Amino acid sequence: MQIYSQKDVKKAALKGARIAILGYGSQGRAHALNLKDSGFDVVVGVRKSGASWGNAKKDGLAVAEPAEAVKGAALIAFLTPDLTQKDLYKDVIGNIAKGTTILFAHGFNVHFGLIKPRKDLDVVLIAPKGPGGLVRRQYEQGRGVPCLLAVYQDATRKAKDNALAYAHGIGGTRGGVLKTTFAEETETDLFGEQVVLCGGTTELVVKGFETLVEAGYQPEVAYYEVLHELKLIVDLLHEGGLAKMHKFISETAKYGDLTRGPRIVNKGTKKEMKKVLKEIQDGKFARQWMSENKSGRKKYNKLMNQDLKHKIEKVGVKLRDRMPWLQENA
Ligand code: NDP
Ligand code: MG
Ligand code: MG
Repeated sequence: MQIYSQKDVKKAALKGARIAILGYGSQGRAHALNLKDSGFDVVVGVRKSGASWGNAKKDGLAVAEPAEAVKGAALIAFLTPDLTQKDLYKDVIGNIAKGTTILFAHGFNVHFGLIKPRKDLDVVLIAPKGPGGLVRRQYEQGRGVPCLLAVYQDATRKAKDNALAYAHGIGGTRGGVLKTTFAEETETDLFGEQVVLCGGTTELVVKGFETLVEAGYQPEVAYYEVLHELKLIVDLLHEGGLAKMHKFISETAKYGDLTRGPRIVNKGTKKEMKKVLKEIQDGKFARQWMSENKSGRKKYNKLMNQDLKHKIEKVGVKLRDRMPWLQENA
């Protein structure tokens, strides 16, 4: 394992360089503002028709259409939604000079071959381990969100130095920059969201809710138990791992956790996790998702509707209305 910090940053890397940030959403805004405050010559590349154009101007940044913004930039960061990056690359590639560094915050398009970068380019990844708002806030407070760094293509032999200089510019070296590969970042990111963070967690909540309601318990009580209180546990895990959670829950909860938990997420579940991972690794998931997009997202829309029509959602809206503090961090 290798973690880079401030001392590993080469002073000459990207010195005085122009950096084009394509996209001004969650990550784009944070990267652009942090890099500007770090002394880089930043230009934001967004379409004139969108809301970002005005937002970036209001924040005092230079703004141009993407194909213009990339002209003369030593590094170009692709920070629009992943599904838009393939077309965006096509729109701008004609204006990208030889030997430029192109940067991604998620490896999906490059790893699965949707973007096949020109051979003369350096292709790198800097993926902050947090949403853009946090990347900006931590930087302003003199701290930084940790980042992952990877090099996919090193045409100039400066790819890693440039990536690290960029990570430094957004505050990442303060939190630590962990070296990885495009494959590892992409595959673990997809696995995490499918199996644990989004897919696994929501299924666990919904099935727990259904079990209680089908057994005759009030839906409202079930909602508080299996959804609302999840935050307390997740916060403890986030702050201090399993140990901190165990420290703050009751002895009874601990005994129930240790003896019942493995019956819920069991050998069969782990076997299925391995299958899901395989489908990510061999490209089956990516192919399925791309073809779903091409054919108008019929299945995706159907599944989404089912989710949003679930009883837990109806109960949740009612109960959350009485807890106005839940919206205060939005
Ligand atoms: P956002 O959804 O916030 O990006 C929105 C920006 O993209 C806006 O500026 C929007 O401009 C522009 N945009 C949207 N559609 C198009 C289009 N078709 N053509 C051109 N521009 C478009 O993206 P994120 O910041 O969430 O993600 C950016 C990258 O960072 C992704 O690769 C993502 O995987 C990665 N990432 C995201 C994290 C996160 O926390 N969000 C964490 C780590 C990595 P307009 O105003 O004109 O619509
Ligand atoms: Mg993801
Ligand atoms: Mg447990």
